[in-house]
Amino acid sequence: MSELPSGDEDVMLPLFPQLLPGLEVLERGVDEVQIGLDPRHGVVASGLPPSVIEALRSIDGRTTVHSLLALAESEHTEQLRDVLTGLTELGLVSEADPPTHSAEPGVEAGLWSLRSGRDQSRTKARRAHCAVVVRGDGRLAVAIAVLLAKAGVGHVEVAAEGTVTEHDVGCGYTDDDIGVPRRKAAAGAVRRSNPATRTGRLVGGDRLPELVLLTDAVVPAPEVVGLLVQDGVPHLPVRVRDGIGIVGPLVIPGRTSCLRCADLHRTELDSRWPRIAGQLAGRPQRADLADVQACAALAVAQTLRVLSPADKPPPVWNATVEIDPYAAKVKHRWWPPHPRCHCGAR
Ligand SMILES: [Zn+2]
Repeated sequence: MSELPSGDEDVMLPLFPQLLPGLEVLERGVDEVQIGLDPRHGVVASGLPPSVIEALRSIDGRTTVHSLLALAESEHTEQLRDVLTGLTELGLVSEADPPTHSAEPGVEAGLWSLRSGRDQSRTKARRAHCAVVVRGDGRLAVAIAVLLAKAGVGHVEVAAEGTVTEHDVGCGYTDDDIGVPRRKAAAGAVRRSNPATRTGRLVGGDRLPELVLLTDAVVPAPEVVGLLVQDGVPHLPVRVRDGIGIVGPLVIPGRTSCLRCADLHRTELDSRWPRIAGQLAGRPQRADLADVQACAALAVAQTLRVLSPADKPPPVWNATVEIDPYAAKVKHRWWPPHPRCHCGAR
């Protein structure tokens, strides 16, 4: 755990400071506190008088920074300001959301800012402007859509065919949805997760989504993939294959390796792959709930990274990430552009 650095004078303190969700001020000794548990971002502040520690305990997102500073004895105000500045600079303290008077559930950006280095409000604003299509006829599609809505993605369309069956329920669809068209039931699940999320049709509309997730089928339907490539729309396959959740490769047409690149690599490993793939194309695979939830969580985290591009590409760039909940293993598999594919990726 590292020592809290001295705050940079140029850092603006939030008007209503709040600790990131889940973080607490923990006592390590009479004059020492720790904030955060993970050594990557947790810090220790020492040499603190009791009034400063008391003020730090009062950071709740509802108390103004001026009221907090007034809690410290006058000779310690600058020390408290320095600690608050240091915490703000590290992203452990941020501006609280404006108070809401509605009973609607809020959006969760969680601890994302610690990993991404971006502040909470910018992350939320960016997500709110994003549109994602989740195309799939099984449990994964709805599980992913519900999580994306709760994370604050502004528009989440589930493009699903058919009606909900008893094999679909458990991670978004309910028993009452059985027999209801999946598209309609999934939109209901998204609205339950976040009533502010738009769910209308993006497919075929003027607004291209930032990302299309192709879920549930081990092999996405070639005609769907062809249209996405033609329109230059980024897409990400997500499926559970025999108990292993697989996310990726992320396809940014013309930049990353495409699904045809992956097929060419697979065919080199197994010459009969095209025949197998033809039988699987567009067909949803049934999967256990735990495998679905693990895979959905991984897919959502990668999706949120795609929606907030950073200097470092996400792990699904030219690669798949496989999660095996039974063996508790995660594997990365590299799928580089194939020299015989004409998708333009190098
Ligand atoms: Zn390709």
